[in-house]
Order: sequence, then structure tokens, then C-alpha cells
Amino acid sequence: MKVTSQEIAEALSSHCEKSVEITNVEFDSRKVTEGSLFVPLAGARDGHEFIQQAIENGATATFWSWDMAQAPTEISVIPVEDTLKAMQALSKYYLAKVGAEVIAVTGSNGKTTTKDLTASVLAQRYRTYKTQGNYNNNIGLPYTILHMPEETEKLVLEMGMDHANEITELSQMAQPKVAAITMIGEAHIENLGSREGIAKAKIEIVDGLSKKGLLIIPANEPLLKPLSQNLSQEVTTFGLAEGDVRGEVTREEKTATTFTVAGESFTIPLPGSYNVTNALIAYTVGRFFGLSIEEIRQGFATVAITQNRTEWLTAGNGAAILSDVYNANPTAMGLVLETFQKLPTNGRRFAVLADMLELGPDSPTMHAQMSEHIDPDKFAGIFLYGSQMENLRDALQVSGELPVFYFEKDKQALIQEIETQLEAEDSIVLKGSNGMGLYEVVERLQKLN
Ligand code: ATP
Ligand code: MG
Repeated sequence: MKVTSQEIAEALSSHCEKSVEITNVEFDSRKVTEGSLFVPLAGARDGHEFIQQAIENGATATFWSWDMAQAPTEISVIPVEDTLKAMQALSKYYLAKVGAEVIAVTGSNGKTTTKDLTASVLAQRYRTYKTQGNYNNNIGLPYTILHMPEETEKLVLEMGMDHANEITELSQMAQPKVAAITMIGEAHIENLGSREGIAKAKIEIVDGLSKKGLLIIPANEPLLKPLSQNLSQEVTTFGLAEGDVRGEVTREEKTATTFTVAGESFTIPLPGSYNVTNALIAYTVGRFFGLSIEEIRQGFATVAITQNRTEWLTAGNGAAILSDVYNANPTAMGLVLETFQKLPTNGRRFAVLADMLELGPDSPTMHAQMSEHIDPDKFAGIFLYGSQMENLRDALQVSGELPVFYFEKDKQALIQEIETQLEAEDSIVLKGSNGMGLYEVVERLQKLN
């Protein structure tokens, strides 16, 4: 970006004594570069305390909500009441100045993947920028906006939440032209009470949606129907074999999935039919903005996934590992299990499942219900880890056909048991909440000999 601190101060109805050129905005003093505006945010420690480090790293201006007597004198100081609100207001100003059209993506799962697929498609025709990493909250979103290049035409933003009213705030900040909800799952059900509560919190994405905009929602979600009925905006539904934009999966491979939409065939370099639903959103956005089938195909083929969370790795002994250990909730775990048991393998299949956290009072039932996604004929054994997984152990033991190894707390014992069982030809999928630390198991298996 290229703005002056004077312009920023005016945009925020504030003032500053000396006007300097700003080329970057940072709230982490360690990331500050020459010409940055520093935004000291309140946190575990208040950002104002790091002003000297920010100046040493090249900050030429700063927001300031502390007493002006404590403000630095060597750089341009813009007094504001609330530094976070000021950063958000500045992002709105910058977005309007750049004039990029925003595509907003929310949902319980698949936001990052959908954001990446959509941006890759749009980039075939337009100068496109997207949320970096997982910067999807009320700090990350304005930060993303402030980091887009001035010539950006389309901006694809991921919007995350764990409480009601958060998506409203983000949507009003970004004022999208297109808004998409990937799916309604159970993530953060503890805060939102029910799946209905989650659906209501996601539909908040229309609160800032342009009146001439487009809302894209899953066809298979009855909870979203009543909530999207009386909108002035156009609504398009997508789904596998249902909805306005219909995908039919024609081929599932370890690292790619092929599907058709409206008579055209597409391939995404990702496993799992759930990623086809993510791609259907990207397709719909692409068509809305006038891209050709060929451009969309090319966008899919060249997609760069920010954090490949469903990752194929190889164990030290040669076994195939499908690692998906960053987060877990029932819908995602069910889909990953179903994807995994459909994929061809020369050896046997195993699964390592760890607790899904933050599911509230229904957590035991939701864990037990994972048994519905496990076909005993397709697995040689299931390893379960964590106190909640006891419920799945009990559910699996009802049929009794499948060897189940349960470990409440002892990760070393879990690893040892897997190492004993796993042979070179086998495939193993691992899924659990990040807090359960299954990545340690993955690391150990990679070193297995
Ligand atoms: P976060 O809330 O952590 O930002 P996210 O919504 O951005 O997550 P992704 O990072 O795209 O989601 O995907 C995370 C995991 O969710 C995947 O590895 C996969 O297991 C699952 N997943 C992805 N897309 C879907 C989908 N459409 N439906 C259900 N599960 C999905
Ligand atoms: Mg994400």
C-alpha cells in the first residue's frame, strides 16, 4: 500500500503532526518493516509496550490509545480511542479505495480450502488476493485487507467465528459481493448451543452482503433454507447430485478427485468428495464473474492450498499415512473416514482417531456415532485415543468384528501398538483435534523402520 499518515488520520477523523508515507501495517512489532504503521493491540501484553521495538524495526507511524504524554516523539502518532477499531475502520477505508470486489467464505469446515480454490479460479482472469494462512477473525480479516496490493480486483476472504455476531461484524467490514457457506457442522457447538445456532451464526454473512450480491449455500442443509428465504440477494445452492449447481463425483484417487458439473468434467488435486463441494463453490463464483470453463479447470489444476491439512505422507517402513490432525469435528471425521475407506490400497487399512474437543454435552454421543462411518470390512484395526473415544470404543465393540485398541492417556503406548501392527503395504488415517497432539504420532510413524 501507499498512503500517508495524514490520509489515514483524516480517514479516521483523527489527526497527526507529521505526515509520513506508509507502505505496510503491522500489529506485531517483530514483523514491522521500514515504513510501517504500527497498530498496538491489547493482548496478553499491550502492544503499546513494544513501541520501541516497532520503531527500531522501521515503523514511521503508530496508532496510540494510551496517554499522549507517553507517545513517542520521533515518529508520526495518530491518536485513536481503540486501536483495533481503528485498524478495522482503516481496512474499510482502504478496501473502498482499492475498489476490489470481495468474496467471503464461512462455514464449519472447508473455509480455507474453498478460499484457496476460489482464489485460484479467479486469478485466471483477475488480479486476486486472498486471506493468508488462517487469518479469519476480527484482527486477521482487516489485516488481510490492509495487505492486499493496490491493484487487487478480487479479494477472497475467509471468515471464521466461535460466537454469535462475529460474522456480522466481519461481513459488515468487508461488504462482500458474493458470500458462501461451505457447510454447517458442529464446530463451536459449545458456544452456540445447537446446530440451529450455528446455522444462524453463519447466515450472518449476508449482513454486509451487497444488495445485488449472491449467496451460495449447501443444498443439503435444511437449517439454511428458512434463513435464506426472504433475502433480496440471489441465492444459489450447490451439492453432490442436488441443488442448482450439481456435482457428480466420477473418480476418486489418493490425491485427486474428478467430477462433472453441467456436463463438463473437472479435476481437483485433492482427495475426498467433500472437497468437490468446496470446488462447487469456487465454480459458482467463477461463473458469476464470467470465467470460462477452461479458466475454472486451470484454476483447479494449479491451486495452492494454504495449509494442506489432509496430507499424504509415508511412514518410515513404507506404509501410507493420511494425516489430518489439525482439527476434528464429527462431520469432518465422518467424511475423512468415508473417503479413506473408499480409496484403493494393496495392504490393510487402519485408523487412529483422537478426541474431538469442545463439543459440549452431546460429545459422548457424537463420538459414539462415528461407528456409523466405519465399515468393519474395510479396516484391519482402529486405534482410539482420549477419554471421549471410550464412547466410540464401546459403540464399536457392540458389533465386535473389528480389533479396537483404546488408550485413554498413554500416547507412547498408542504409538507402540501402532508400530507393532503397521506393515509396509498398509494405509493408516489419523484424525483428531489439534489439542490431542496426534501430529506427534505422525512424526514417530515417519521415523518408523
Ligand atoms: P478452520 O476452522 O480451522 O479454519 P477450515 O474451515 O478453514 O478450518 P479447511 O482448513 O479447509 O477448513 O479444512 C479442514 C478440514 O476439514 C479438512 O482437512 C477436512 O478434514 C475437513 N473438510 C474440508 N472441507 C470440508 C467440507 N466441505 N465438509 C466437511 N469437512 C470438510
Ligand atoms: Mg481455515
